[in-house]
Amino acid sequence: MHEVIDCDECDGLGFRVRRCFCVQGGDQLVVDGGRYADQVYVDCRVCGGDGSVAEPCARCGRAGRRRAQLVVTVVNLDTGAAASRRLLPGRLDPPAEPDTITRARDIVTGLAGAVGVRGLSPHWGQRALGDEVYWLPRRWRAHLPAQERLALEAEALAQQEYDPWRVYVGRGTEAPPSPEPGRELARLCEQADLLYLDLVVEARRRYGEVVWTIRYEVPGGRVPLDPHAQAQDLPSAIAATTFREAMRGLDDRGRDAPAYTVRPVRTTTAIPSSMDLGRLDRAVLADLADDAPGAQAVWRDGRWWHTPLRSAGSVEELHERETGQIVRYVRQMVRRAAEPPDPAWWGEPVEHRPCPDCRPGTRLRRCHCQVGAPGPDPQCSRCSGAGFAPSGLACFTCRDGGRIPAALTVTVTDGRRVSHETWRPVPGEPAPVVGYQPNGTPVHQLRPHWRLARHAAVFGVRPTDLTHLDEDQPVDQDLLDATVTVHDPAVEPARQHVERIGAGLPGARLFVLAAAPDAPPLTDLLRLAYALDLAVVVTYRDHRLDAGDPTKVQGERWDIRLTARDARIGAEFPFCASVELAVARCVEYLDMHLLAAVPREPDRPVPAPQAAPSPPVAEPTGLLRRVGRHYAGQPVVASFDRAGCRLWLAERGEVQPLARAATLDDAVSALRLSGS
Ligand SMILES: [Zn+2]
Ligand SMILES: [Zn+2]
Ligand SMILES: [Zn+2]
Ligand SMILES: [Zn+2]
Repeated sequence: MHEVIDCDECDGLGFRVRRCFCVQGGDQLVVDGGRYADQVYVDCRVCGGDGSVAEPCARCGRAGRRRAQLVVTVVNLDTGAAASRRLLPGRLDPPAEPDTITRARDIVTGLAGAVGVRGLSPHWGQRALGDEVYWLPRRWRAHLPAQERLALEAEALAQQEYDPWRVYVGRGTEAPPSPEPGRELARLCEQADLLYLDLVVEARRRYGEVVWTIRYEVPGGRVPLDPHAQAQDLPSAIAATTFREAMRGLDDRGRDAPAYTVRPVRTTTAIPSSMDLGRLDRAVLADLADDAPGAQAVWRDGRWWHTPLRSAGSVEELHERETGQIVRYVRQMVRRAAEPPDPAWWGEPVEHRPCPDCRPGTRLRRCHCQVGAPGPDPQCSRCSGAGFAPSGLACFTCRDGGRIPAALTVTVTDGRRVSHETWRPVPGEPAPVVGYQPNGTPVHQLRPHWRLARHAAVFGVRPTDLTHLDEDQPVDQDLLDATVTVHDPAVEPARQHVERIGAGLPGARLFVLAAAPDAPPLTDLLRLAYALDLAVVVTYRDHRLDAGDPTKVQGERWDIRLTARDARIGAEFPFCASVELAVARCVEYLDMHLLAAVPREPDRPVPAPQAAPSPPVAEPTGLLRRVGRHYAGQPVVASFDRAGCRLWLAERGEVQPLARAATLDDAVSALRLSGS
């Protein structure tokens, strides 16, 4: 029996004794991050100066044993067919040579042929064909004594136990070829011109090699300390950078960029349909020549500007360790040797006031004792009445930008068209009270031109399809409807609205994507679940009873997850404002849903479903909305699997069964809802 082996980390005990982290820094309070002293910190809060700690074994999750078993599954979404291969000791393909890695491609190809998959669907989970599946050690030989060989194979499989079920999703048609990198880069430049942003192509020296990144920036910000670069060359950096990827973290990078309004300008030169990568690559590398720590090509105003990076001194970062020690890291900063000329689209500088809730350059933040009180509490244990206390978190008001702008630029785009607006409050603007918070604070609504929701119609999408471009989060209801909870009657609602949104935005700019989520139909997810013999659990809530109340959720909310068929159904709180968004989220986090569907106990097998092609499944959202409408205000839960459909109603955190039938249609008929 080699399918379950003792955990080598804890010798099967489920817990282990390890050296305490305090030994890294040695017996002192302030220690260097890069140092290893191998000496106990006498005042250690974790080990009390003993140097060793007993803790549950993380490797085996306290089980003391590990599963030596992996399953690879391929599903054809077009037919609903699935094929799986269970990898066990004694049932592995002999590698070409010991010490060679078996990759997903080696196993997926055969399974894909069996179910008629010709191309894998990207973005269903995070898997790639190049992923390592297992790796037999050099000692492994086909002619070793069976016991010894099986033990090596079991160990190799157990090494991968954290990810026991690898599911690849594909279709009967070939996947489209990956786009040509020169064209892709030209596309990214085009978007930069559309949104009035810089596109930065950067090469940095790291541990003796050069790594590349591509990202959008608000002009004039600092060069980031650590750009998370992975790519070894320019084409692979382009391949790894989607538009959303290049936008991610824009607000962090633009924290101290100067704020200007946008003055629409037309670029005079047309962007080539494909960038000359060889030329760009040579120009960037030439700037790296005399030992510069990095170099950048900045796409601004329709052309590339080149500059090497120069060292700009160092910053010290201090972190508290749970041992009670302070760890000190020294980080090298860089700056551009030459700044490109100011962007042609810069209008006027945006005025700002300092953030009232933090002290820039320090960790002092407004203390909680001041919330909802006229002043600080002299007895407060955190600030002793000073009103400000040290905090490890970013400032809640300005997100550490330190500035509250007086106006902001709102940029809405669908990737092809764009709208830039300046939002600036005018004193004395009418803003009627439209509701009250539970504590009696009035909620005002600004006039229609402040309501972001009006952009949805212009771009042909629903208001719920408006999302923050840099963080992939839907914009909130207050922003959609221009509703403002006025905490301070001395500040006009419009000004409060602009300050709340603008604080912490990069260069006082808000970027919004107006596009429906890039999601497959829900029926694809149902088909996947049937093929894998899992359940799709959909939670739906209709909020129509609260329509028009600015303090309540409006519209509908969805939650969709994939679970084991026998998993306990709970009352989930649905968050997604459209079924498409809920499907997109479920597909994005598919690997996590699948991991949760694998039994935890190492001696229970990993699912290895096989499925013949099955007929298409019916679209359930219309019927679910009908049930949700009947029980408006309460979450309705529906579970779909091979055996049929079950319905529940969530009440006070519990689920009550409503109906069970072969199809949703039958289940809903059994409910005999009024009007049916
Ligand atoms: Zn210690
Ligand atoms: Zn263990
Ligand atoms: Zn306080
Ligand atoms: Zn602040």
